[in-house]
Amino acid sequence: MNIKPNNPAPHHNWNRLMTDLQESPTLALNNQIKQMSAAGKKVYNLTAGEPDYPVSPEIKKNVIANIDENRYAPSAGLPHLRSAIAKNCASWYAADWIKTDNTIITAGVKPALYTTLLSLLNSGDEVIILTPAWVSYSHMIELCGGKCVYVSLSKKFDIDIDALEKAITPRTKAIIINSPHNPTGAVFGTNTLRKVALLTNRHKIYIIADNIYDRITYVPCPKITDCGFDTNYLIITNGFSKSHALMGWRIGYIIAPSDLIVKIVAITSHILGNTALPSQYAGITAAENYDAPSFLPELTVKRSIVANALDAMPKLSYNMPGGAFYFFVNIQKITKDSNAWCEQLLRETGVALVPGEAFLAPGYARLSYPVSQIILENALNKIAGFTK
Ligand code: PLP
Repeated sequence: MNIKPNNPAPHHNWNRLMTDLQESPTLALNNQIKQMSAAGKKVYNLTAGEPDYPVSPEIKKNVIANIDENRYAPSAGLPHLRSAIAKNCASWYAADWIKTDNTIITAGVKPALYTTLLSLLNSGDEVIILTPAWVSYSHMIELCGGKCVYVSLSKKFDIDIDALEKAITPRTKAIIINSPHNPTGAVFGTNTLRKVALLTNRHKIYIIADNIYDRITYVPCPKITDCGFDTNYLIITNGFSKSHALMGWRIGYIIAPSDLIVKIVAITSHILGNTALPSQYAGITAAENYDAPSFLPELTVKRSIVANALDAMPKLSYNMPGGAFYFFVNIQKITKDSNAWCEQLLRETGVALVPGEAFLAPGYARLSYPVSQIILENALNKIAGFTK
């Protein structure tokens, strides 16, 4: 036998997209921090998009009650879960067109987005991404053969309609709207979204509404279904990672026109088979108890703690987040090089933030606040000392 599995692979034979592809910077940073903590260093980890809350007892109970099920499941997801999600979303989005046929279960929002993009994109099709942007959109689009077109949000983190209109070309296939928005926490208003809808309806562009934070809001957040988007072009991705702190269980879903769902089910049948059954049982309980998360009042308090602390740091500024659980802190009075700043902050104080470069926005650092209050307060004190 002449197989030497440890030999370096012949890189020149790989997909050329692998040359630039790196692990998600937020996950990589989070892993680095966990290793530092394991090595005994005191680290205040404000990087992860993970609400620090336990799995609810009701969810555990339903999973345990069904733990013996081990057959392959339908690629679209368990009918009970699909209908629970369809029912919840029809009510949440006040959209009676949302039925079981418009719903597919996915192993988190990442695969929801990825299979959506696979189902839509031909080689060279353009997808508009609003920047700052969540780290994975651009990589997913490129892996699906698409081309990313970047449009900056305004200084107040609103959608710049003129810039958006200028970015539209005959090759524009879709635009990703994420509201509440990661990393800024911005909530886009009804008027803004209505203006976006006028453009996308006119040009027949798909809206991929990544609504993963839409149950975590501190201000009124318009429903994406209430802004005039042509529902033939509207695709909503969502899941339970944030609303129910089920990050590791990998459970999400897509709401889309039923003929597109049929195709996404086909893709899923070939690349995934089905989302893990225990997670689907968790999803059933989550979907049946699914409005504002139980920890929203605590997050509201933590948001105020961060805002008050940042208000006392003259070199830092921010826009108050309307949703999600991040502050996108402007550090430009100090530097534009947030990579170097975050690295120094971590080295000197043990506080870990995500540099804005990860979101295509140098000069900022993302602070994620669903951690224990004591960690949050200690970390904020250290940032205050560091920025004096
Ligand atoms: N979309 C956004 C904007 C996110 O912030 C995240 C996770 O951080 C995801 C999608 C991925 O969610 P999931 O963990 O359910 O795959």
